[in-house]
Amino acid sequence: MPPVSKLFDFIVIGGGSGGLACARRAASYGAKVALIEGSGRLGGTCVNVGCVPKKVMFNGASIMEAIEDAKHYGISVGSRSFDWGVLKNARDAYVKRLNGIYENNLVKDNVEYVDGMASFISNTEIKVNDAVLTASHILIATGGHPIIPKVEGAEHGIDSDGFFDLETQPKRVAVVGSGYIGVEIAGIFNALGSDVTVFTRTPHILRHHDSMIGETMMGEMERLGIKFEHNSSVSGIKKHEGTELPLELSWATKDRSAESSGLFDCVLWAVGRAPNTAPLNLAAVPGIQLNRTGHIVADEYQNTSVPGIYSLGDVYGKSELTPVAIAAGRHLANRLFGGAQFVTSKLDYVNIPTVIFGHPVAGTIGLTEEQARAEYGDGEIKVYKSRFTNMYNALTPYKPPTSMKMIVAGASEKVVGLHLIGRGCDEMLQGFGVAIKMGATKRDIDSCVAIHPTSAEEVVTMR
Ligand SMILES: Cc1cc2nc3c(=O)[nH]c(=O)nc-3n(C[C@H](O)[C@H](O)[C@H](O)COP(=O)(O)OP(=O)(O)OC[C@H]3O[C@@H](n4cnc5c(N)ncnc54)[C@H](O)[C@@H]3O)c2cc1C
Repeated sequence: MPPVSKLFDFIVIGGGSGGLACARRAASYGAKVALIEGSGRLGGTCVNVGCVPKKVMFNGASIMEAIEDAKHYGISVGSRSFDWGVLKNARDAYVKRLNGIYENNLVKDNVEYVDGMASFISNTEIKVNDAVLTASHILIATGGHPIIPKVEGAEHGIDSDGFFDLETQPKRVAVVGSGYIGVEIAGIFNALGSDVTVFTRTPHILRHHDSMIGETMMGEMERLGIKFEHNSSVSGIKKHEGTELPLELSWATKDRSAESSGLFDCVLWAVGRAPNTAPLNLAAVPGIQLNRTGHIVADEYQNTSVPGIYSLGDVYGKSELTPVAIAAGRHLANRLFGGAQFVTSKLDYVNIPTVIFGHPVAGTIGLTEEQARAEYGDGEIKVYKSRFTNMYNALTPYKPPTSMKMIVAGASEKVVGLHLIGRGCDEMLQGFGVAIKMGATKRDIDSCVAIHPTSAEEVVTMR
């Protein structure tokens, strides 16, 4: 039987944050759109194994911390117990509901949902299951996957996807990697009662953020009981069946001559992510360019090097965040199908705010101090800082710091970076992000009367 052949205006490969947003926006202009998703569930990384289930776990961990704080406010909460399985099942059910909502939205918006893995046959043709779909516009929004390092026994470890599959809580966890995903997962495990060691290649964590964020975060993680093996390079895992801590992790450390080893019941790789391009058969699209890290190169309008083919989101690899993929997707759909008013529609990748849901939370936008000095020169930069104890901790014996740094440039003192860490900083950043995106100066920020008593008021009173 010949393959079923279907013609569309637009084919979107990948039903994650970017693909869904782009497909629905394109269909809203009347385009005939197909969206192909290969995992059997819609929503992509964010909904299934990223932001959403992570935030649920973070919330659980934060409740645990609040219970610890309660006694200092005279509140007795009795005995404390935690059932990992109850939290996991409730979280999975929530994610499943979201999968269904996404599917209904596609039906409502007239997007044809195709359940299967897509691969290119030519610049305009896609094979999926037994069908060949044709369109003159094709978006690649296939996201990425966690990297597993090539060390002996690596398969005994899990990655961030595996974190969400854990049916029971591990007792002793090694988190290898200290980017935001490693830091967030380490914080969750620790707050929920696992013993956690974080392995870092350098003396630092969160290396891509302002150093103030990494230093403050590490100090707090240590205070909360997380151990660090800095300057370490993990060399392998051996599995010993039938013991409580079956995974023997080995690592070399710069300042120790002999290899070290330790026993764990969970080793979690958080060493980075790579783009999903392998199943796409890009060989059928001559001229499509990948960069050094395998991401699909596109210009500022998300055009790849092949006319009619676009890439965005994690497979494109710039600011790998859900709202970035969504915004880029909507801009692309506007430009392709929204008519004359949108011909120059594109996402501005400058000043994208983001949050690290660690313990404590941190929010950051714009340039780090180091980047600002490199871009503007030392003489053009001024740095405002504030460090204080949130009033929440006035009654607790421990005084976690809230730390803030605002970087301004030039005589006008335009804000080019804002970095915040401490209770409430996650929710605090969005509003300041709007001001910074509008080009706010230090004077503009200061002109807003403080809200008292809050942490946020420190942002408008920094000296
Ligand atoms: C643990 C974790 C926590 C995170 N937390 C946050 C957060 O708090 N905030 C935030 O903004 N971002 C967060 N992110 C990042 C965020 O999830 C991603 O940036 C976002 O999901 C990228 O969207 P996307 O559309 O590019 O790709 P994805 O959402 O990954 O979607 C790609 C889809 O394409 C499908 N696919 C792949 N290949 C094919 C094929 N050949 N055919 C058909 N379908 C295919 C995949 O199955 C997938 O569903 C987190 C990520 C992780 C891993």
